[in-house]
Amino acid sequence: AKLKKGLTKTRQGITSKVDQVLKTYKKVDEELFEEIEEILITSDAGVNTTMEIIDRLRNLAKERKITEAEDLKGLLKEILTDLLKIEKSNELNVNSSPTIILMVGVNGAGKTTSIGKIAYQFKEEGKKVLLAAGDTFRAAAIDQLEIWGNRVGVDVIKHQEGADTAAVIYDAIQSAKARKIDVLICDTAGRLHNKKNLMNELGKVGKIVEREFPEASKEVLLVLDATTGQNAIQQAKVFKEVTDITGVVLTKLDGTAKGGVVLGISSELDIPVKLIGVGEGINDLQKFVPQDFVNALFG
Ligand code: GDP
Repeated sequence: AKLKKGLTKTRQGITSKVDQVLKTYKKVDEELFEEIEEILITSDAGVNTTMEIIDRLRNLAKERKITEAEDLKGLLKEILTDLLKIEKSNELNVNSSPTIILMVGVNGAGKTTSIGKIAYQFKEEGKKVLLAAGDTFRAAAIDQLEIWGNRVGVDVIKHQEGADTAAVIYDAIQSAKARKIDVLICDTAGRLHNKKNLMNELGKVGKIVEREFPEASKEVLLVLDATTGQNAIQQAKVFKEVTDITGVVLTKLDGTAKGGVVLGISSELDIPVKLIGVGEGINDLQKFVPQDFVNALFG
């Protein structure tokens, strides 16, 4: 129910419109496919992904001899679910302890908030959590993370503004080992305008993690703002080039009608969406389960 509420705008942007054209057309024909195509494009599913969905829809309708427009909805659900189920798991790899999670993404995407929410969830599960204030570029980022740390009741390892991100994460790892922490969540700086810097910085962090914390299972989560639509896809492409992203946290889905961006990330980039943000509150982060997502969208 919460997911459905979080998707209210996207339901208006996709579901209501699809329902409407299916009602208007009644019978399956080429123009109807074009209308659905238009809706998907407008919802930021991306051109390639939309083409693929429409192709599959057309073929499946033909194969199953579907003539009633209403019946396309079931097919659409089937196709979207299938498209979202990429080979890589949508679940966080946190079953063994310790785990280190590196959070990457541009400023404003919702990195700090997501770290707070993730920390809260693990804490609720009884895990020992530690945070590392690796976004040393902005003093505000360190402060924000501390506010979340206090709210959730977990410690934050920090250095001063301008310090080396890798050094902060080095310290955090030593602390995590000494305290037998289950999950260490690390913030990183989100400067995308200088790709080489970003690559160097994330590369350095990666090496520290490998050298100092080989026993930890590792996640590199890219935080993307769903309201930025196709821009989010572009960011994902750049981050994918500079580092090994293991999953996406898609934030602010509650704030956009363009939830179709989920489809683009999964199918065009082949990166699993693992978590979705559906509000500003501490509880507003959900595991991404393709079937549940499609059900909430069309249910
Ligand atoms: P950062 O710069 O990437 O660390 O971004 P922040 O975590 O500070 O988030 C930027 C803004 O987005 C804040 O006002 C957050 O409350 C808001 N935000 C983050 N996630 C969500 C979400 O899932 N839904 C909504 N509505 N707002 C969010």
